[in-house]
Amino acid sequence: MKTYNLLYKQEGDVTRFVEEKGIEDTPRLLVQVFTGVPERRYIENLQRELEKLFNKAGVIGTSTGGEIFNGEVYENSTVLSFTVFERAWVKTALVEGADALRTGRELVGRILDEDTKLMIIFADGLNTNGDDLIDAINEEAQSVPVVGGLAGDNFTFKGTYVFTSRDVTDRGVVGASVNTDKLQISTHYNLAWVPVGKGMVVTRTAGNRIYEIEGKPVVEVYKSYLGAEAEELLPYVAIEFPLVLERDGVMLARACLGIAEDGSMLYTGVIKEGEKVRFSIWDTGVMLDSAAENLKKFRSNPSESVFVYTCLARKYLIGGEAEVESKHLQSVSPTSGFMTYGEFYNLDGKNRFMNYTFTAVSLSEREFTQNSEGQELEEEPGRDLIRFRALVSLVNTITGELKDANDKLERLAERDPLTGLYNRRKMIALLEEQIRRTERYGKSFCVLMVDIDNFKLINDTYGHQKGDEVLKGMAQALRELLRSTDLYSRWGGEEFLVVMPETEIEGGTAVAEKLRVGVRGFFNRKLGMDISVSVGLTAYRDGDCIEGLLSRADRAMYRAKKKGKNLVVVS
Ligand code: GH3
Ligand code: MG
Ligand code: MG
Repeated sequence: MKTYNLLYKQEGDVTRFVEEKGIEDTPRLLVQVFTGVPERRYIENLQRELEKLFNKAGVIGTSTGGEIFNGEVYENSTVLSFTVFERAWVKTALVEGADALRTGRELVGRILDEDTKLMIIFADGLNTNGDDLIDAINEEAQSVPVVGGLAGDNFTFKGTYVFTSRDVTDRGVVGASVNTDKLQISTHYNLAWVPVGKGMVVTRTAGNRIYEIEGKPVVEVYKSYLGAEAEELLPYVAIEFPLVLERDGVMLARACLGIAEDGSMLYTGVIKEGEKVRFSIWDTGVMLDSAAENLKKFRSNPSESVFVYTCLARKYLIGGEAEVESKHLQSVSPTSGFMTYGEFYNLDGKNRFMNYTFTAVSLSEREFTQNSEGQELEEEPGRDLIRFRALVSLVNTITGELKDANDKLERLAERDPLTGLYNRRKMIALLEEQIRRTERYGKSFCVLMVDIDNFKLINDTYGHQKGDEVLKGMAQALRELLRSTDLYSRWGGEEFLVVMPETEIEGGTAVAEKLRVGVRGFFNRKLGMDISVSVGLTAYRDGDCIEGLLSRADRAMYRAKKKGKNLVVVS
C-alpha cells in the first residue's frame, strides 16, 4: 500500500494530483477528506470534483477542528489522503440520522464484511452520541478495530459535517471498511490529562447531561473548584479541566459542550449516575513521553501509512506543541488525519468512545517493511514541567492526606472508643438499613440484647479498670463467636446489641445459646473469672419500627434477668 497526502488549495488540485501520482479509481483506493471549512456549499463544491474522478474508490470525509498534513497541523484548510492498497478493498457508506444506535447498526450492516480488518468511521460532532454509536458498532463488530472520530467545527458549534463523494450530512455517520486477508495494524493512544483531587459521585444525569454531582448542581461544583471567576468562562473553561472517570479499567475523559437552560451541562458522551468523576489537568510530560513511545512503536512495526485522529482540545490548549505528537510520525510513514470532537479507538479488544485523546493507527500490507531511521524524540523535561509535576503531586498528596483524616474522623464518629465496636448511633443507622432491606427482599433478621450479669459487682470487687477489661473482653468474645455477616455494637454501659441479617428465629435462638455458653467459656479461659450474660432475642416482624423491635428485645432480656440470669429468652 501507499499513501499520498494532498494539501488542497483550489478547484482542479485533486485532478492534477491524481494524474501526477498515477492514482487510479479502483475499489482498492481509500480517499479521506479532512476539511477545516465546515460549510455545506464548500463541501458540495469539493464533491463535484471528487464525484467526477471516483466511482469505484471509497471516499469518506469530515469537517474538522484542524487538519493533519504530512504530520503537521493546519487550520481552515483541506487535506486529502489517498491510500492505494495492494490487496485490500474498501467499502463505504453514509447513514443519515441523529439516533446513533440506529445509524451505527445500519452503517455496520452496510460496510462490514467477513474480511474486514479495520473500520474508519466519522460522525457529526454535535448530534451523534459517540457512546451510543460505539455501543451499536460493538454489538456486531466488537473485535474489528474502529478508528476515526467526531467531526469538528473549531469550537463554533454551528454545524459539523460528514460526507462521501456524493452525500453530505450534519447528522449522521460515514464509514469505510478495509477488507483483506492480512493487514498489519499498530495503534497508539494517550490521554495527557491527569486526575487531581478527590473522586466525586455523579448523582443525577440524563443521557449525556449532568444535573448534579454529590447532590449539588453541576455548575456549582465547577464554581467551587475552579473559582467563582471561572463561572463567566463556562463552559469554555470546563474544556480545559475535563472530568475523568474509570470505566472497566480504562480512564476516560468527557468534554463539556455547553450549559443547557435548565442548568445541566452537556457532554460529548454519556456519564452514568453513580460513576465517580475527578477533575483533571493537562500534563505536557505525559504527552511527550507518549509521543516518544508512539514513535518507537510505529518504527518497530511494519508501517506504510499513518492516520491520526486527535482531540481538538489539545490544540486549543497547547497550540503549536500539539504538533509534536504527529510531526515525528511522518518520519515513519505519510501521516494524515484531523482534530476531532471525540475519538474512536479499540482498547483491550473492545471499541471505545474517547475524548481528549490522541489516537493514531499505522497500517501495512507487508509483513516486513524497512522503516526509515529517524531522529529520536528526546525532550528533557524543562523547569516548568518539573514545577508542574510537583504541583500535581502536591495536590494529590494533600487530597490523599485529607481523605485519610476524613476516614479517621468517620471511624471515630461511629465507634465506641473503649471496645472499638460500633456505637449506638451507627447501630441505629445499620438497623434502619436492615429494616429497609427486609422490606424490599423479605428476609427477616434477628436482634439480640446482651447484658453482662452482675457487672456492678465486678467493678465493686476488682475496680473500674478490671470492669473496663471485661468490657473489652466482651468485644473480643463477640468478634470470635459471631459470623462476619453479623453486626454488633456496644449499646450502652455493659449492654451489647447484635443484629443477625437473614436469620429466622430458630437460627437466631441457636446463635444466642452458642453466644451465652461461649462468652462464659471465653472469660473463664481468658480472665479466670465466672462471667455470664443474659440475652433477649426477637425477630423482625412486618411493620416493626426500631423502637418496637428494641423494646421487645429489652423486655426479653429483663425476663432472663428475673428468671435467674445466664439465660436466653425469646420474645
Ligand atoms: P444485672 O445483672 O442486673 O445486669 O446487674 P448489673 O450489675 O450488671 O447492672 P447495673 O445496671 O446495676 O450496673 C451496670 C454497671 O456498669 C454500672 C456502671 O457503673 C457500670 N459501667 C457502665 N459503663 C462502664 C464502663 O465503661 N466501665 C466500667 N468499668 N463500668 C461501667
Ligand atoms: Mg448487667
Ligand atoms: Mg445493664
